[in-house]
Amino acid sequence: MSNDSLELEGGCYCGAVRYRFHGKSQAAYFCHCEQCRKITGTAHASNMQVKPSDVQWLCGENSVSTFDCPSERYFSNAFCSKCGSGLPFLSKSRQWMFVPIGSLDNAPDDLISMNIFWDDRANWYDDGLTQKKCPGFPDEE
Ligand SMILES: [Zn+2]
Ligand SMILES: [Zn+2]
Repeated sequence: MSNDSLELEGGCYCGAVRYRFHGKSQAAYFCHCEQCRKITGTAHASNMQVKPSDVQWLCGENSVSTFDCPSERYFSNAFCSKCGSGLPFLSKSRQWMFVPIGSLDNAPDDLISMNIFWDDRANWYDDGLTQKKCPGFPDEE
């Protein structure tokens, strides 16, 4: 895991919302829990845990929608109200911010340090990783 202080920018797909992160990653992981799979619509969430004061909105903060999960395990979610992309969100305690790593413009190679809720991972995940790797769309045959 990277121990360096990072200076990164990110935003949503449509560009309405932009933010800057300047600080250290407290932890960065793939979360395979059921809630993260539902909320991202894919195999796992990819989140970096940071101090809220290390994230600054550059533009579009009023386009950030939030959803607070009633369950205890998951905290909440934030997304662009125009394009639906995941964006940094505060924990219920407001102690931490979780930055969806895919929303960053770039990130260091060694950012991810663990897979959490590994035993809850999708039953189709391990097999999927072993399948054919295509550099782009599959060839039309
Ligand atoms: Zn957007
Ligand atoms: Zn999770």
